[in-house]
Amino acid sequence: MSQKDDTTDTIQTDAGLRTPIVAVLGHVDHGKTSLLDKVRGSAVIEGEAGAITQHIGATAVPLDVVSQVAGSLVDPEEFDLPGLLFIDTPGHHSFTTLRSRGGALADIAILVVDVNDGFQPQTEEAIRILQDSQTPFVVAANKVDTVPGWQVDEDAPIKQTYEAQSDRVRQQLDESLYSIIGELSDAGFSSDLYWRLQNFQNNIGVIPVSAKTGEGIPDLLAVLMGLAQRYMKEEMEIDVTGPGAGTILEVKEEQGFGKTLDVILYDGTVRASDTIVVGGQNGPIVTDVRALLKPRPLAEIRTEKRFEKVDELAAAAGMKIAAPDLEDAMAGAPVRVVRDRDLDDVVEEVQAELAEVAVDTGEEGIVVKADTLGSLEAMANALDEAEIPIMRAEVGDIAPRDVSMATTVDEEKHRVILGFNVDVLGDAADKAEQQDVRIFESDVIYQLVEGYEEFVEEMEREQK
Ligand code: GDP
Repeated sequence: MSQKDDTTDTIQTDAGLRTPIVAVLGHVDHGKTSLLDKVRGSAVIEGEAGAITQHIGATAVPLDVVSQVAGSLVDPEEFDLPGLLFIDTPGHHSFTTLRSRGGALADIAILVVDVNDGFQPQTEEAIRILQDSQTPFVVAANKVDTVPGWQVDEDAPIKQTYEAQSDRVRQQLDESLYSIIGELSDAGFSSDLYWRLQNFQNNIGVIPVSAKTGEGIPDLLAVLMGLAQRYMKEEMEIDVTGPGAGTILEVKEEQGFGKTLDVILYDGTVRASDTIVVGGQNGPIVTDVRALLKPRPLAEIRTEKRFEKVDELAAAAGMKIAAPDLEDAMAGAPVRVVRDRDLDDVVEEVQAELAEVAVDTGEEGIVVKADTLGSLEAMANALDEAEIPIMRAEVGDIAPRDVSMATTVDEEKHRVILGFNVDVLGDAADKAEQQDVRIFESDVIYQLVEGYEEFVEEMEREQK
């Protein structure tokens, strides 16, 4: 049973389970954005207008709309979940940014793999991140419509469409699907086509889909719901009425509001009257909410007023928070509502969460800069795995003082700055060139690690 609660502007069930947060990961061009668009589009077509709720940074699809899209595959009576909340920005960058205490903020994930292209470096990276964060996931084997000779049937469950293909077409698709299943097995996951699985307990369901035709989308939603229901029951003791906990997705300047936070709330509520503690570059920031904002319905949008002020929002939800003193706020850092709790306790909590991401650093090693706390953590894990020592790791752009820092090490191979999704500020680049400091920039972690390793190899060859 789900109900709309107008006072808190959220949907929650009688069982008290909150909406599961769903993230989409996968290699570039494998169809993450298209898949999200298709899910949203199908929900809009099936449900009435306004059936899906646009949040800041996320889209909520309520249970009744999920079941309308999924047809006979999802019986709403069987679920205690209010629906699904999809994070709008796909990719493991947003996934790692959205960390919550001790893990990922997303409850479940969709790993998108192009059936023509199979596992690619970012697929492997995504798998490692899902593994590290112990996030349950399903695999959407996308672009089945591109298999030569594929006969489209938009209305049937994907199993039926799959079985209706000619032997030649099915064999060709099978080759791709079994290569995906093989790669998953190499990564330590047992998986199969979802309709062949007895349960999803320790098995990954692989769902053939097309983000273009919409085939397999009902099945994908059904499998997600099943996975989410089990996971939320096992893992989640969530009180959606208490003081809120969330993560900053982005820190943004907004006309009329100054610096604002785009926040994904995974627990409790935020009120326009709350005092909050926010993770900043230099530690916790204590401030008062000035305005709590959500997007205006599309029909009402005028350019100068894109947001609507609300009094309260409850998890799971994406929102914008306007407040003073947010200059140092960091993407990926926690947000906590104080309300009736002791301020010092909450500050300590935020401090502890910031410290959790503190990277092991030594006197000798490279400098790492990343755009968010979560991506910094992911970088540090990847470097640790590759046994590359770190001297300093920070959120922020590459500045001249980072170059100075890099010159303090003895070993030449450590006079390196790796920048993940950041800019090189002012004369940092010139300074680096003068002082023989190498700067590597990328928005793909493995490229940075590989770039560094190649650089070291090359240097060692030259020295011989
Ligand atoms: P992303 O980088 O993973 O977000 O990938 P996009 O969603 O941008 O998709 C990359 C390209 O693949 C685009 O040109 C899409 O139109 C196309 N594409 C995505 N999904 C499908 C699909 O299921 N079938 C076909 N034929 N094309 C697709």
